[in-house]
Amino acid sequence: MNDLISEIGRIISKSKHVVALTGAGISVESGIPPFRGPGGLWEKFDPMEIGHIRTFMKDPARVWKTLMAEMRGVLEKARPNKAHIALARLESLGFLKAVITQNIDGLHQAAGNTDVIEFHGNFAWLVCMDCGRRKETVRVDLDTIPPRCECGGIFRPDCVFFGEPIPEDAMVRSQQEAQACDIMLVVGTSAIVQPAAFMPLIAHQSGAKIIEINPEPTPLKEQINTIFVQKRAGEALPAIVDEIERMVD
Ligand code: NAD
Ligand code: ZN
Repeated sequence: MNDLISEIGRIISKSKHVVALTGAGISVESGIPPFRGPGGLWEKFDPMEIGHIRTFMKDPARVWKTLMAEMRGVLEKARPNKAHIALARLESLGFLKAVITQNIDGLHQAAGNTDVIEFHGNFAWLVCMDCGRRKETVRVDLDTIPPRCECGGIFRPDCVFFGEPIPEDAMVRSQQEAQACDIMLVVGTSAIVQPAAFMPLIAHQSGAKIIEINPEPTPLKEQINTIFVQKRAGEALPAIVDEIERMVD
């Protein structure tokens, strides 16, 4: 395994444009449960149902009381972990050019990454469904459910619900980065939720090497020949970046 980490360190230290694609798994070590897998939100409720835009439009109070209350509780306490910090170090070293994330927790920005493309928006902001006003989640009274804007309209999180399209600018920029990179680091994503799962395929077709970090095998490993590191992100990423720092010193 240490040979594999050294090998990846060598490959990255020779690269010009690394892009990371991250999913819920990278934030697990910050105490945010993923949807799938042990301890996942899936065990409490079905995110595809409760997190679907249809459900929110029909009964926003129900969604605020369940999924949103749960997310808010964990997100407020969460801080970047060793994996987020390692990706910020990889940017400072000049290798990592962008992070495409499916997460809504803002932890990549908190760790110091400056170009974060958010596929599914961010829970830190709310949008009024009537007047479109945006307000920081921490500045909204969430004891009244559903939370309301001064205009009387109901606030929704500035996140993409199931059944909604990815914001166009995020989609366009991600595709550009997937085409431009010579290495894509795929960290903590089960690579099932489309269209994010398509990004490694675009990168692969454009000639990039794909390095995957996940304690569990994913379908991606079968689809394209990824370099697969079967470890937790908080263990593998700092080790890889330590290795690169030693090489470029
Ligand atoms: P997922 O829940 O489907 O899968 C998580 C993946 O992370 C799994 O493959 C799992 O094996 C892996 N994993 C678990 N622990 C890990 C660790 N310590 N290190 C590395 N990998 C680990 O997540 P997904 O594919 O990202 O899709 C679910 C969707 O739900 C996302 O698109 C996102 O929008 C949303 N979501 C976001 C957050 C967040 O913002 N932190 C949390 C839960 C869900
Ligand atoms: Zn309003």
